[in-house]
Amino acid sequence: MSTEVAAPVSRKTYDEVMVPTYAPSAMVPVRALGLDLWDQEGKRYLDFTSGIAVTSLGHSHPDVVDALVKQAHTLWHCSNIYTNEPVLRLGRALTEATFADRAFFCNSGAEANEAAFKLARKYGHEKFGANKSRIISCLNSFHGRTLFTVTVGGTPKYTEGFAPLPQAIEHIAFNDIDAARAAIGDDVCAVVVEPVQGEGGVTPARVEYLQALRELCDATGALLIFDEVQCGMGRTGSLFAYMGYGVTPDILTSAKALGNGYPIGAMLTTNTVAASFAPGSHGTTYGGNPLASAVSLAVLETINTPEFLARVTAASALFVEQLEAIVRDYPQVFSTVRGKGLMQGLVMAEATRGRAKEITKIAEDHGLMLLIAGMDVIRLLPALVVSDAQIVEACTILRRAVDLFLKPA
Ligand SMILES: *Cc1c(COP(=O)(O)O)cnc(C)c1O
Repeated sequence: MSTEVAAPVSRKTYDEVMVPTYAPSAMVPVRALGLDLWDQEGKRYLDFTSGIAVTSLGHSHPDVVDALVKQAHTLWHCSNIYTNEPVLRLGRALTEATFADRAFFCNSGAEANEAAFKLARKYGHEKFGANKSRIISCLNSFHGRTLFTVTVGGTPKYTEGFAPLPQAIEHIAFNDIDAARAAIGDDVCAVVVEPVQGEGGVTPARVEYLQALRELCDATGALLIFDEVQCGMGRTGSLFAYMGYGVTPDILTSAKALGNGYPIGAMLTTNTVAASFAPGSHGTTYGGNPLASAVSLAVLETINTPEFLARVTAASALFVEQLEAIVRDYPQVFSTVRGKGLMQGLVMAEATRGRAKEITKIAEDHGLMLLIAGMDVIRLLPALVVSDAQIVEACTILRRAVDLFLKPA
């Protein structure tokens, strides 16, 4: 082995060697613990992004690290020619904790949705015939970046240049019951919705809307799919958002926080629906591998306790109170705050439309990592273990950032 020190890498290296699918920030994170993160210069940041709703237990959570290390010393991978103990435990825990009887594991949110849409088509064809294939989805929704999931997603820009696209996919306005009633006919095999739209602007569904979708699906034999990749796993204060709404889907997809940063996705469904898949219908090499499953089980066991979820709700109450005060104090910058639990969005006012990114950039310079959702919403997704003091610190930095945004130095 060479003793030579490898040439240093920096943000500039990204522009030299990476396919330019992202425009990453100027700072390069090197280490993180809890909600604290340090960059290459040793500068500390308070992380209110959680890697986009992924590291919900904070960075390097000791129980999750333990599960990973222990499993790494035991069994990493053995393919789906064999099953394994961690995935069986995880499948049992997720089905016991939810409406679902069955789980399918994969490696990302897009793959979980891909499995859900394929299963819905297959179920529709088997039960009702080849005509039952239309998929209804919402404008501004996000379901992943495979060709199928990006076509189901409600952002036309993301399918530009990728034609020909999968067929029989229709988009309707989110939270519009009349539009749903007009669109959901007998040829619809699935209706897919995020209970809280994440990428689309941190917009919660109205409970009457989800209830109406449930009724329309029951009346037409369509499957109701909830994409909880971003809003699930405790983010809204319930283990899954559907529990808080009291509306149960036929298929639920999860990923992101399911692995707290270790890649894993899951599609959960009922016995009846799962029966449309048989050996050979669908699969993936890494799906349900022991390492991911062991990590995910530790995450689930930590999040899914009444005390943990009650703390999310309590933290949310303080956070929303502080964010509402910011909206009140800066009416020229923000129009409102919306969201559920620890998934909150500050909506830009008329006068500042399109400028959300300018504020998150200033906040980052001052040590607070934030996200946007589109150009008009600042998205705040702290780890669910956030303390009251960290909420107050973040809101203090955010206020400073808004002051600087209003009076550039
Ligand atoms: C992030 C996200 C996805 C895609 O997940 P990946 O792991 O990036 O494939 C799908 N749906 C929703 C709601 C998401 O937020």
